[in-house]
Amino acid sequence: MTADPPRRRNLLGWYFRTNLPLRIFIGLVIGAVAGIWAGEAILWVDPLGTLFINLLKMIVMPLIFTTLVVGAASISPAELGKIGVKIVVYYLFTSAFAVTIGLLLGNMLQPGANLDLSAVGTVAGEELATPSLVDTLMNIIPTNPFAALAEGHVLPTIFFALLAGIAISYLKISGDPRLRKAGATLYVVCDGGAEVMYIIVRWVLQYAPIGVFALIAVVFAKQGAEAVGPLGKVTLAVFIGFILHALLVYGGLLSLWRLNAVTFYRAVREALLTAFVTRSSSGTLPVSMRNVDKNLGVSRNVYSFTLPLGATINMDGTAIYMGVCVIFISLAIGLPLTLAQQITVVITAVLASIGTAGVPGAGAIMLLMVLTSVGLPVTGGTPTAAAYAMVMGIDAILDMGRTAVNVAGDLTGTVIVAKTEGEMDLARWSPEPTVPVEESPVSES
Ligand code: ASP
Repeated sequence: MTADPPRRRNLLGWYFRTNLPLRIFIGLVIGAVAGIWAGEAILWVDPLGTLFINLLKMIVMPLIFTTLVVGAASISPAELGKIGVKIVVYYLFTSAFAVTIGLLLGNMLQPGANLDLSAVGTVAGEELATPSLVDTLMNIIPTNPFAALAEGHVLPTIFFALLAGIAISYLKISGDPRLRKAGATLYVVCDGGAEVMYIIVRWVLQYAPIGVFALIAVVFAKQGAEAVGPLGKVTLAVFIGFILHALLVYGGLLSLWRLNAVTFYRAVREALLTAFVTRSSSGTLPVSMRNVDKNLGVSRNVYSFTLPLGATINMDGTAIYMGVCVIFISLAIGLPLTLAQQITVVITAVLASIGTAGVPGAGAIMLLMVLTSVGLPVTGGTPTAAAYAMVMGIDAILDMGRTAVNVAGDLTGTVIVAKTEGEMDLARWSPEPTVPVEESPVSES
């Protein structure tokens, strides 16, 4: 009889037995400490982080497509319309709130007030282009849905999957048995496809602690010191905004709908940590979907639509960041914004956050659009460009927080809409939550 080598069994056994969010958190802390302590010497771990992001991205498009087809095929188009209106209203409302919080904090903390960049005139670079909103809207209709799917374009894929799902729901109730059978088959194939993706997500998450360690170590090695240095006030204002928004706005909305915020945040902590380290709402989608499905009992009819849409158009963290950074840049160049300009910022930042893709660094590009709207275009060699370059220097740190808030916003809207539609298993929210115990990487849930 051969016994397992005890050391190996212990180490691996410990790894797989320990609660997953705890392991991810340990990875995060060790990564931050290692990044600050070892500096550039730790950069060799970079590919380990990229590996994690690639594994998540691998699942995103098949998961969006299959869950959305099943979701749309399971409910009537009228119900779908109702969910759509509710979630879009929620997304717009919370984003406007978020920019306002950012602007208020900027005005209170005055980051950049003691900098004087007005004399700077030597920053290299040309005018940076901003994507147009009309183009973004027109591109929602895919001229080739397979290309959209293959290239990872979320909005056109949502559009096509919704149409396909609605068409399948008509097939399923057709009077012709052949068509009924075809509809049912397509439905079952997509349903199975989604479940297969969830099993893969569970496997991928077993690697998350290592991926998280690597991603965080690299960010802190490159930018940790700058975020506490001269840009400390920007970092502080932005992160205070994130915390206030997550606690007051989301916490308030959840309690308004009689949902326990503590239960909610506990159930989605894997998704929030994943967003924090990957800096991508889209990349986090598989984990967000799995958390609301398995931990909070939200029906697929709701989250299959609201989460991919939110990962594409709802960016509250990005909106807060834009509010603070516009104030920082205007103060740093000695041109404080008037009230009218700040109102313009509320409107353009909401639009810009809608146009922001759920990928790392996208918000910083859209900030250019907001700056242009208040007469501060980022042109090479200007003080505005110098101030912009400063916040770009710490973008990775700010992006971690804003992505976590972006994802928290999508998740909050999803559970609220699911509750109002009666599409959520409220037993999962009871004081003794039936949150599944951490499964082994190979067992069924
Ligand atoms: N990284 C953010 C996200 O994926 C977008 C941004 O850069 O603000 O949600």
